[in-house]
Amino acid sequence: MDLLIKNGRVVDPARRIDAVVDVVIRGGKITSIGKANVADIPHFDATGLIVAPGFFDIHVHLREPGTEEAETIATGGAAAVAGGFVAVAAMPNTKPPNDNPSITSYIISEAKRSSPALVFPIGAVTREQKGETLAEIGEMVEAGIVGISDDGKPVMDGRLFRRALEYAQLFNLPVIQHCEDLNLSKGGVMHEGVYSTRLGLKGIPSSAEDTMVSRDLILAMIDTLESNRIPLNIYQGEVFCSRYGLHVDWYENPEGNKALFDIMDRIDGTMSIAEIARACGVSFDAVKRVVDQLRERGLADYV
Ligand SMILES: [Zn+2]
Repeated sequence: MDLLIKNGRVVDPARRIDAVVDVVIRGGKITSIGKANVADIPHFDATGLIVAPGFFDIHVHLREPGTEEAETIATGGAAAVAGGFVAVAAMPNTKPPNDNPSITSYIISEAKRSSPALVFPIGAVTREQKGETLAEIGEMVEAGIVGISDDGKPVMDGRLFRRALEYAQLFNLPVIQHCEDLNLSKGGVMHEGVYSTRLGLKGIPSSAEDTMVSRDLILAMIDTLESNRIPLNIYQGEVFCSRYGLHVDWYENPEGNKALFDIMDRIDGTMSIAEIARACGVSFDAVKRVVDQLRERGLADYV
């Protein structure tokens, strides 16, 4: 394809371009971006339009297999390119769900056959998205999934979700979680607040999302932090504190968190307690209290 796209506002964050310029395409490839005086190829006047690289929607529902009357891989792909999206990631809540490699392979082959947009399947975290046992994650990776998610269903079982994170880490696979504690949100139809009270409707508290986000952050950190031997509980505390704007001293000493983190930085087995105290400008007792807490939590074998 040869085409000159003239006078469009070219927006390409990756190349840091946001300007009204021309784009020259020769043989299907962009050969120049800038002011162009080209007469030998067709022109498209993009005055007042935005010219951008193809978009990628990482959360779509193609409904195939199972609910083809609503959407198919072909119609979903056509809708995507009509809106400027050249690639989509398809959520696994098909019927049956994409929780095994045969469904993954079907989606990929059907997309190649019928979709003008690239389709990247996302596999389920749990079998049938029921949140009870892990789906066939490894085999789905081989078949071509690019991530795992139970889509609109949160994985409520923390132990199972932890296993999913660990397993996904083996494949460097993103895990996409719908953060909602279903017990907290149960029966709610709108955000819990003044308006839900006025309307007499059952609200969903923000905490339904916040608690799940916190849990999942902690679970995600367990693996990365444990392997780096960073004292977990301190970092968990930091996440909670920053999220809720709390200030908590992690030991009874009034010298505070800043001193604590200074101390933590130096605890690596090469300095004595007295040396750390001197380096951080705090008392011997302050350092010792931190070390003792770490020992209690089984995190101080390297002190
Ligand atoms: Zn969804």
